[in-house]
Amino acid sequence: MDNLDRFLKEFRGDVFRNVPLKEHTSLRIGGPADYLLVPDDTLALKMLIDLLAEIEMEYMIIGGGTNILVKDGGVRGCVISLKRFQKLETVQEGDDTVTLFVQTGAPLQRLINHCKDSGLTGLEGLAGIPGTMGGALFGNAGAFGYEIMDVVQRVTVLERGALKVYERGQLNPGYREGGFPKETIILGVHVRLERDDPQAVKTTTEAYLKEKKATQPIGQRSAGCVFKNPESLPAGKLIDEAGCKGMRVGDIEVSTVHANFFVNTGEGRAEDFLMLMDMVSERVYDVFGIVLEPEIRIVGQKE
Ligand SMILES: Cc1cc2nc3c(=O)[nH]c(=O)nc-3n(C[C@H](O)[C@H](O)[C@H](O)COP(=O)(O)OP(=O)(O)OC[C@H]3O[C@@H](n4cnc5c(N)ncnc54)[C@H](O)[C@@H]3O)c2cc1C
Repeated sequence: MDNLDRFLKEFRGDVFRNVPLKEHTSLRIGGPADYLLVPDDTLALKMLIDLLAEIEMEYMIIGGGTNILVKDGGVRGCVISLKRFQKLETVQEGDDTVTLFVQTGAPLQRLINHCKDSGLTGLEGLAGIPGTMGGALFGNAGAFGYEIMDVVQRVTVLERGALKVYERGQLNPGYREGGFPKETIILGVHVRLERDDPQAVKTTTEAYLKEKKATQPIGQRSAGCVFKNPESLPAGKLIDEAGCKGMRVGDIEVSTVHANFFVNTGEGRAEDFLMLMDMVSERVYDVFGIVLEPEIRIVGQKE
């Protein structure tokens, strides 16, 4: 780690060592990261990535930590947060459309609120989804038939240390997949939205938010949906009908509000979460013969 420690003395950004990642995830689960680094800007990030490539040290990007399960042994190497990348600005205004540029660390809800306040339609169904733009783009966040990639025009990324721009047609997003190569670091996005009656956008956005609050355990510690929806039926319905609501391991419980959310009711551990995932998958397979696939991203190592 000598080279890294030398580099970090000059690093433009914040440096934290041996950081419990449970403090950076919505589940409040996760062992320590060797380093948590918060670069001030793109140049500081690029220099860091170049150094990490040179010394062959692993790294991962964390956004809001609302879609990850970090294992109890934590993450070796560096976790990089882009929370200083916060810009949201209008870059083009047409009669019918508006193009915005949003940086990766800005909360998705800042964009949703901007659209609501400015009468811009296209993302209303994403109201209430926590996390950052980077996390939303990486996983093509979506709800109620809306997906973030629907409005994306262009994404600026850092790939193997080089700046690169993906036009919309060059990406192949899918269900909960933005379609980026594995080593891509998302820096910012241009989104194009249509103008609409501001009152209509506000009403629709608020209706989706109300629906989300009524059907999901929003106030509890979770990471959103644990499993992807299979083609046949929503995972939550399968889990519910297999009789798993309320099932628990340690402090992790299958939510009684929405069966595809597992909630941390106290001092839950990743090990318990993973065991509950196995138990629920097995039960669903036994009852319906359907294999559930994880939607949450599982990172780090066992204790
Ligand atoms: C209560 C609740 C409700 C939710 N409802 C929904 C919903 O309706 N629909 C939905 O789709 N999701 C939902 N989620 C899940 C989650 O909020 C979204 O997936 C969100 O977009 C994740 O963003 P994040 O910044 O927290 O990403 P993180 O959890 O921090 O990261 C997720 C993945 O993205 C990668 N990543 C993050 N930023 C970057 C970047 N800049 N460059 C490259 N990779 C990056 C990370 O490495 C990681 O692999 C919900 C979660 C909660 C807790």
